[in-house]
Amino acid sequence: MQHKILKCSVILASLIVLTLTFIYYADSRSVPEATPRPAQPINRQVQKPAQPLEKAVPPPKSPPANSMIVVEAKQEMPKKPVSEQSPAEPTRLVETKPSAEPKAVSPPIIEVSRSDPHTYADPGYPLLSKQSGSYGQFHYRDTSGGRIEIDPAWVEENIVTIVLPGLNQSVEVHKDAADNFIAAFNYIKNGTAVINGREMPLLSLIKTMDGTFVTRHVNWNPSRGLSNHSWGIAIDINAADHFCYINPASQADDPNLVLWEKAFKPAGFSWGNSYSDSMHFELLD
Ligand SMILES: [Zn+2]
Repeated sequence: MQHKILKCSVILASLIVLTLTFIYYADSRSVPEATPRPAQPINRQVQKPAQPLEKAVPPPKSPPANSMIVVEAKQEMPKKPVSEQSPAEPTRLVETKPSAEPKAVSPPIIEVSRSDPHTYADPGYPLLSKQSGSYGQFHYRDTSGGRIEIDPAWVEENIVTIVLPGLNQSVEVHKDAADNFIAAFNYIKNGTAVINGREMPLLSLIKTMDGTFVTRHVNWNPSRGLSNHSWGIAIDINAADHFCYINPASQADDPNLVLWEKAFKPAGFSWGNSYSDSMHFELLD
């Protein structure tokens, strides 16, 4: 009996020892395995940002309106070196892009509105002229001394430089008035008139040519309307002694009266004599 009990206790003891040994090894295995783990996560953390960088761009999960922005950002990406550290950068790129986009679109909008004076809104030229027949209207701003400054786009589109026949002088006129100016000065270049019983070339009646395209108010007075000179459809001749009304009955030899009859009237001009501006010839529709 005693022998049996001894055998059993030996077996039991050895079993306990085995179990303890197994537990010990099991524990000692789990500890060394756990240590290398931290090393792996470090590597993964470094690589991870590179993946989200590329992935952040393509997913077109965002609404269709933003999809263009996303595409834009995608095109921008290669230009900038993809940084390894900051996954926040791609989002910044996407956000800054929209502000750049409208700038690229805005110039055409300005171009379109320029062609239509009613929608044109350049703050530099806030005032709108009257419509002067077929010669159009323009935006302008007042400067000093009754002068105005016209929207340069209108000037570029409508004002041309011609050489007045006979005078051989370059002047700026409205492109649609150029033919009338040239016709008038061809009459002046080739015509004659009898003044005080003497036949004289019409050209000799012009002492001074005092301006065609001059951007200003009537009489240089800011409180008055815009002069037709602003459209390049008027010309002043012999200004010094023609700030007045010429009486055709008593002043038949007046040079400007003769020029009106022989040159400007046949060429389609009106004469400012009716409102005491006998230096002034203009085209009106
Ligand atoms: Zn004038």
